[in-house]
Amino acid sequence: MQILKNLFQVSGDLNGLTFDQPGALWNDGNAYVLKTPQGLILFDCGCGETIEQMFHNMRYWDLAPEEIQYCLLTHAHLDHAGGAHILKKRGVKIMAVAETAEAIAAGDERCCGYLYHKTFQPVTVDQILVDKQRRNLLGVEIEVMHLPGHSMGCTAYLFTWEQKRIVISGDVIGTLLSGDFGWSGSIDFDKKIYTASLRRFAKIETDIMLPGHGMVYFHKPRRRVEEVLNAALMQWR
Ligand SMILES: [Zn+2]
Repeated sequence: MQILKNLFQVSGDLNGLTFDQPGALWNDGNAYVLKTPQGLILFDCGCGETIEQMFHNMRYWDLAPEEIQYCLLTHAHLDHAGGAHILKKRGVKIMAVAETAEAIAAGDERCCGYLYHKTFQPVTVDQILVDKQRRNLLGVEIEVMHLPGHSMGCTAYLFTWEQKRIVISGDVIGTLLSGDFGWSGSIDFDKKIYTASLRRFAKIETDIMLPGHGMVYFHKPRRRVEEVLNAALMQWR
């Protein structure tokens, strides 16, 4: 689905863009493609089994999978990072913060294969990202915001596109109506750390939020974060 000019959602089970089994589920996170004149940047990559569906979607929108240069991961969970080992073999540079890099290199329960009854295929990250870092990738300045809690590696990516401030938020906020958290069953889930991340994230003004599952938010996405923060403060202390 096209979100803005040269910005697309190319996978996601809740939308039915990709799926490993019938029925809208959380088995496949949303993946997004930013198309620059120098190539494509992919954010997350789904569970792996659906990668050909993602490529099929991309080709429909004239996005050549061979032109993916980078894949930036929001966290290590299988529904977001399970396909990274396939991309790596195709020469895509995998990028993530250290906590995510360690988890996906081990492929252990931090990648939550147990939730999906699947085995995470380990993969080595090419470049480690650091909180508050601004990286220029293919001419786009991407700001790294490490927001641990849902998992220890959770990371949001911010950039300006078409005069709008965009945030790729992964599972830092939930996906449906108001006040949802990301899933709380991760082995490295931590309420206190999550709440601190939400406090930080709730101060960030953006125009469009591209979450890890479900709906893209075009209107005051910061309000969604404030709702989740409020729920966290009420329920988790
Ligand atoms: Zn997750």
